[in-house]
Amino acid sequence: MRQRDQAEQSVRVGDRRTRQREVILELIRRSERPLRVSEILELAQKELPALGIATVYRTVKILQESGYLKTVNLPGGDTCFEREDLEHHHHFQCNFCGRVYDLPNCPVKLNLSALTKQGFIPEEHELIIYGRCPECSQTPVVV
Ligand SMILES: [Zn+2]
Ligand SMILES: [Zn+2]
Repeated sequence: MRQRDQAEQSVRVGDRRTRQREVILELIRRSERPLRVSEILELAQKELPALGIATVYRTVKILQESGYLKTVNLPGGDTCFEREDLEHHHHFQCNFCGRVYDLPNCPVKLNLSALTKQGFIPEEHELIIYGRCPECSQTPVVV
């Protein structure tokens, strides 16, 4: 009897974890911009009101290790998450609300042959533009 209870309970816990993973993965897939753990929590709580921040951290880590998500590392140790299958792109961070957005184009044109001649082998690059997002550029700054 007790064994059966335990088995049933572990099935329920398994279902809950699967559901948490699905909800979190889906909202990151649907998002048009990279999300911080706090933003993921806020959005996911609309469907899973009892969800806690520790579960979001754990779930995001699992999804990242499974190859569904990648991290966007911001200066100062701040991290956002976005879907893994996006093409090379860059980011815009709002100085006012802190939200991070995708920039569709890559404006970086390196003179690769000059670099290689000097012995440097470029492998990747990152670029973050800082400014005001459309929402914050309409709000007058209150001093
Ligand atoms: Zn903003
Ligand atoms: Zn680029």
